[in-house]
Amino acid sequence: MVKRTLSGTSLETLVSLSKRRGFVFQSSEIYGGLSSVWDYGPVGVELKRNVKDAWWRSMVRERDDVVGMDASILMHPDVWVASGHLESFTDPLVECVECHRRYRADQLESDVCPNCGGAFGEPRQFNLMFKTFMGALEEAANTVYLRPETAQAMFVNFENVQTTSRKKIPFGIAQIGKSFRNEITPGNFFFRTREFEQMEMEYFCEPGTDDEWYDYWINFSMNWFKSHGIRSEKLTLRHHDPDELPHYSKASADIDYEFPWGWDELETISNRTDFDLKAHARKTGKDISYFDDQQKKRYVPFVVEPAMGADRSVLAFLADAYDEEGEGKQRRVVLRFHPDIAPFQIAVLPLSRNDRLVPTARRVYGVLRSHFNTQYDDSQSIGRRYRRQDEIGTPLCVTVDFETVDEDDAVTIRNRDTMEQVRVPIENLETAIRDQLDLMRADSQG
Ligand code: ATP
Repeated sequence: MVKRTLSGTSLETLVSLSKRRGFVFQSSEIYGGLSSVWDYGPVGVELKRNVKDAWWRSMVRERDDVVGMDASILMHPDVWVASGHLESFTDPLVECVECHRRYRADQLESDVCPNCGGAFGEPRQFNLMFKTFMGALEEAANTVYLRPETAQAMFVNFENVQTTSRKKIPFGIAQIGKSFRNEITPGNFFFRTREFEQMEMEYFCEPGTDDEWYDYWINFSMNWFKSHGIRSEKLTLRHHDPDELPHYSKASADIDYEFPWGWDELETISNRTDFDLKAHARKTGKDISYFDDQQKKRYVPFVVEPAMGADRSVLAFLADAYDEEGEGKQRRVVLRFHPDIAPFQIAVLPLSRNDRLVPTARRVYGVLRSHFNTQYDDSQSIGRRYRRQDEIGTPLCVTVDFETVDEDDAVTIRNRDTMEQVRVPIENLETAIRDQLDLMRADSQG
């Protein structure tokens, strides 16, 4: 059993590790970067893909009552009129009269500018939606918006999805996709960015059952993080005060994570009532309702929504996995990811690039890569390669040495967390790896 009290770390350490190991880079870095936009590198893209796949598996593939969809980022502009985003998706903006820096008024701790001590002008409401134009003419009539949430696509497609999937209420529609918000004060690495991916699910239920489903999805979401390795003591639930609720919500609760700078929002679960379906019905003149053929009655469903950011979850997984141990030459940085979240599950490492080892190492790699996300690494010394794999959180390293080719056709499996090494015949390797990964899964339940 691995100890789950990890050393934790600062944001600066995560930023430098991310750059050094290819998790995340600043966008357009060679041009000096673009504010609050980030790119995933070869390791980060695997991590993010695993986070999204794990969510999709739990939310869609393993359930009978949730189906998926994938909508376009651009939608009819009237969608945002009906949903209230054009009018209400705003943050209060204040500008310092001296240095002209801009801040979100609701996030300020003092009534003078934190940069220069100057006074603020009058607050004004700033709409967070990015605008662009569709077609050749850049005029108001052609304005379209980059969606600020993925949810609206599930509402406007409710009937299409319900009739084609033949799902009965209660059921949900899930989607993973890009959203854009022209945030006034982005920051904290890629915690709050202007372009990000969301993982959202809209669960349609009978009015009157919504409070029960709201509790259900709060529990589900909390357990999802824990069962994928986030430590329980780093998670907390915070119910919104009535004056904080978004315009569409009857009740909302945030799952907060203790990031290096403090507790901050990871996911919001909201009871959106029938607000959105009714708003689209009014705007389009269409009847968006559901006929319950058992109860022989028609109603507009209520909606409970777990909404989270894929990128923000990646940052939480990264921060939560970080650990340092040992002193001097023994010191190592290790990311203790759950095996389903780790960017790579296995690294195959020939002891050296010696011609006698390479064919066997490539053969082992060929077998393993069809079962696990596997990396082949033959550069530098074996010690350095172990350190590198620890730093990107690879659970198991498989080493091919001269004994393998000369004597026993067996390899060494080294465990990331315990650093224990066991020798396993190549013919049993896949099973041995599955067993070890299962143990590591059980160990990393939060
Ligand atoms: P915040 O208060 O942090 O700006 P929010 O409460 O407006 O976020 P929601 O509208 O509830 O966010 O969005 C659901 C989820 O989408 C959030 O919990 C977060 O994980 C993610 N998210 C929202 N805005 C951003 C952003 N600018 N960058 C990254 N992720 C975001």
